[in-house]
Amino acid sequence: MFRTLILFIAIGVAVWLVSRMIKNKTTKSRPKNNQPKEIKNIVQCKFCNIYIPESDAIKYNELTFCSQDHLEQWKNK
Ligand SMILES: [Zn+2]
Repeated sequence: MFRTLILFIAIGVAVWLVSRMIKNKTTKSRPKNNQPKEIKNIVQCKFCNIYIPESDAIKYNELTFCSQDHLEQWKNK
């Protein structure tokens, strides 16, 4: 009788822990509706003409480049 009671409590605690874990997981993985505001201006790489967000662009004077590599290549042109 006593052992059965312990078993029931153990199962109850286990179920509670699992349900709590699932709850935490679902709230964490919930997709966010708020889009980051960073991607606003799209600029063009002066070297390869690819379009990139301004936040990712390498700036050189008034010019923008998709990577440091292309900036160097453009300067050596
Ligand atoms: Zn480029």
